[in-house]
Amino acid sequence: MAERVSETDSSRTRWRDWFEDSYAWSRARRARLFTLVAATQFAVLAVVGGVAAAFGSNEFGFRWAGRSLFVISGFCALLFLPLAWRGLVLERRQSEARGYLIGVSHLYGLLMGGCLYLAGPFSGVTWLTITASSLSVLIGLGTAPALRLLGSLAFALFAATSAGMAGWIPNEPLLELPAGAVVHPLRYAGTLLVHIFAAVASLAQLGFLAIMLRNRERKFRGLSSRDPLTGIANRRIMMERLEESWSRVQRHHEPLAIAVADVDHFKVVNDKFGHPTGDRVLKQVAQVLRTSLRGEDTVGRWGGEEFMILLPLQGLVSAKAALERCRVQIQSAPVESEDGRPVRVTASFGLALLPGDPATTIQELVAAADAALYRAKRNGRNRVEVAPSAQRASA
Ligand code: GH3
Ligand code: MG
Ligand code: MG
Repeated sequence: MAERVSETDSSRTRWRDWFEDSYAWSRARRARLFTLVAATQFAVLAVVGGVAAAFGSNEFGFRWAGRSLFVISGFCALLFLPLAWRGLVLERRQSEARGYLIGVSHLYGLLMGGCLYLAGPFSGVTWLTITASSLSVLIGLGTAPALRLLGSLAFALFAATSAGMAGWIPNEPLLELPAGAVVHPLRYAGTLLVHIFAAVASLAQLGFLAIMLRNRERKFRGLSSRDPLTGIANRRIMMERLEESWSRVQRHHEPLAIAVADVDHFKVVNDKFGHPTGDRVLKQVAQVLRTSLRGEDTVGRWGGEEFMILLPLQGLVSAKAALERCRVQIQSAPVESEDGRPVRVTASFGLALLPGDPATTIQELVAAADAALYRAKRNGRNRVEVAPSAQRASA
């Protein structure tokens, strides 16, 4: 059955993939993205400065403050654009990316410190920018670039502010009025707008980081709980589930059935059709087990071609019937080999149950299921065998 994927779904998936992949990006790729963001940031500042210089009123101090912002950030943008291009080249030459990243984070820190001085160290814009950009760099690039950036930024901001306080250069010129200027409501409105703009940009940046972190965590959690080949639970998760079920059994004396399934003569499949076809078979068996069992049951990959199945709250008859259903499904659904030939496999199952089994630990119960599986193999394969104790108990 072909899956229908709508336009929005596919673009959403693309974005999700982009977020999820970003944690595995190479250093060169991160460096390039960082430079592009920096170039864009400076370009936006230059435009803001340009507008203030062209249309702002001199009376309110807009024009000359805008002019200085335009000149400084325009220079930075022009400097960072070729750097971003160089990052693109480096993406193919990983070895040089480290030096490039160090240089760029210092340069960015120094220049951004200079730009922020225009608004002054006590401005909200300054602190929003420092917080958001250092957090982005910390999460996106790592601790060392974030420290480098913060160090350079603090140095530039401190140096420029000291020079301003000494009277060598104008003091925080963007927000402070020239001497004797009358404060006009427009001046307040302009300042407010700049703060709102900085707040929205910073919040967007932090939101982006939050999504990236959440996706990264989800991905890691997925990676550490799923078997990469079949997509079902891995052995670690199955052990956890077994322990949870075991404690429920102890507390509430609930019945629990566990089964171990093993593909028959799987080595022959690999030898005859090749390892990739063997992998296909494993995927198919996992799929069949998952779809043939109830929602409360859990299936995981236990080892190479072995699967563990947990059937909570099931007695001998229903557990055995469920496994028989799986067995028949596996037998009757051929897999296509790499070269298009049908590959038929069968599987053997060993079942152990509580109450009934004398097992006093979870390991003993698993061993009982294993012993039953071994018997199924000895008795001709493609069959379900039940641990003798369970059979006796239900007799
Ligand atoms: P039996 O019926 O007694 O279980 O025989 P068998 O051939 O299935 O058992 P055996 O233990 O001799 O062989 C298991 C094979 O499974 C050997 C190993 O190469 C293969 N195998 C284990 N993991 C994977 C895997 O992830 N992919 C593939 N293709 N083969 C695997
Ligand atoms: Mg086998
Ligand atoms: Mg085996």
